[in-house]
Amino acid sequence: MEEDFVILKYHERAPTLAMCRKCKVKFFTVHVSRLGPIQAEQYLWEKFSAHDCKVAEFPSRHLRSRRAV
Ligand SMILES: [Zn+2]
Repeated sequence: MEEDFVILKYHERAPTLAMCRKCKVKFFTVHVSRLGPIQAEQYLWEKFSAHDCKVAEFPSRHLRSRRAV
């Protein structure tokens, strides 16, 4: 499960944006400057472990299927 947690962006060493690799849900910290690097990461991790992970089988295919009628 841990390897599905990816941090995408940092702001002054504090993680600001993370993602679940499985369901592509993104998590972001709001007051990073107040939280600090460790707490920011903890915050993202908590959000990650609390999220409802639903793996879509072909998410990209659904997004791209637009029919020109
Ligand atoms: Zn997930």
